[in-house]
Amino acid sequence: MSQQWIYLNGEFVEKHNAKISVYDHGFLYGDGVFEGIRVYDGNIFQLKEHLERLYNSAKSIMLNIPHSLEELTQIIVETIKVNELQDAYIRLVVSRGVGNLGLDPASCPTPNVIVIAEQLTLFPKELYENGLEIVTVPTRRNRPDVLSPKVKSLNYLNNILVKIEASLAGVSEALMLNNEGYVAEGSADNVFIVKGNKILTPPGYVGALEGITRNAIIDIASDLGYDVKEEPFTRHDVYVADEVFLTGTAAEVIAVVKVDGRVIGDGKPGKETNKLLKAFRKKVVEDGEKVYTAVNSQVEV
Ligand code: PMP
Repeated sequence: MSQQWIYLNGEFVEKHNAKISVYDHGFLYGDGVFEGIRVYDGNIFQLKEHLERLYNSAKSIMLNIPHSLEELTQIIVETIKVNELQDAYIRLVVSRGVGNLGLDPASCPTPNVIVIAEQLTLFPKELYENGLEIVTVPTRRNRPDVLSPKVKSLNYLNNILVKIEASLAGVSEALMLNNEGYVAEGSADNVFIVKGNKILTPPGYVGALEGITRNAIIDIASDLGYDVKEEPFTRHDVYVADEVFLTGTAAEVIAVVKVDGRVIGDGKPGKETNKLLKAFRKKVVEDGEKVYTAVNSQVEV
């Protein structure tokens, strides 16, 4: 692929020409919403769920998305097609749009709608084979009654601070606690712990995004007969868990083998984590309709 085409407010623009005004309130104030979506072999994974989350986030911040769900679906499919992508990561952004320097969104009559589709960069295989070492960081999760973590807004400073603190600790990912000390989530992923047949993930009110991957894993694990619960837990519960794993659109399911220096289980990706990753990867190719097949692909529609 020589050129990369970005969908920008009704047209496809070459990457280097895809520009937004410095007066966009998404840039000035982080005022907007977004989604990260994955395409597996021409099949957009749970697009409807992603778009529903986008509309809910937009409703919460009183941002009117100037497209129906069906129109946005079409826009995303077109973006994949013009870029001839089979396996891709899609970034859908709706910002408040161009206004003046004041905070009031009333000065921004038209939201900017952007879709970026890129060839997927897979996480290194060793990460899945060896698992991840993480830490908990000083930065606490935004309180749900202040800026709800359920809103996937362009304000990711909370998460960026976590990333910085993780890097300072010499690791690539970290867990945030909420202000009561319960484990909330990672910088851009949800967290699960396994203890015996029980699998726990923090409920939304603790301070977690309702991840699409998280919800898929809850369904898969329930179908496989695990006792899955959305229940608050502490750092101690993480340290003494049999297994710990993170979930997210990009990482899928990734084992955590060390937390704050405590070795989890036997220090290797756990059996149940691997089982869930395998079931998840089966689901992503089996679920849904294929919306695109690359011209030179061997894949049959
Ligand atoms: N939490 C946060 C803060 C995130 O940004 C993400 C990534 N969207 C997730 C969790 C995982 O969500 P999903 O499975 O929908 O990618």
